[in-house]
Amino acid sequence: MHEMSLCESVLQVLETEAQRQQFSRVKTVWLEIGVMSGVEIEAMRFCFDVIVRNTLADGATLEIIEVPAEAWCLECAQTVSIQQRYDACPHCGSFQLQVIRGEEMRIKELEVA
Ligand SMILES: [Zn+2]
Repeated sequence: MHEMSLCESVLQVLETEAQRQQFSRVKTVWLEIGVMSGVEIEAMRFCFDVIVRNTLADGATLEIIEVPAEAWCLECAQTVSIQQRYDACPHCGSFQLQVIRGEEMRIKELEVA
């Protein structure tokens, strides 16, 4: 399950930030997850609870913000919404799309104490 290693890297970021910003507890983590990132949200929640046990984020709430997918259409020369990779452009039907959003996973915000 790759969600386990993703949660481990989230925890690493939290620990680094805790040292840098001088906080000792994390209460809430807002995670942005792109709809095309391949991350399973339910698995992510489960792994997060397991990984943060007995750490600075023990008992922290995980808030997940799903980021919609967007691509740049070379034909239309504009940003379009897509549902998944390899979708055609909803305006012109072209497949000349470059995905620009929706594949990432990042920490958006932290509530700390
Ligand atoms: Zn187009």
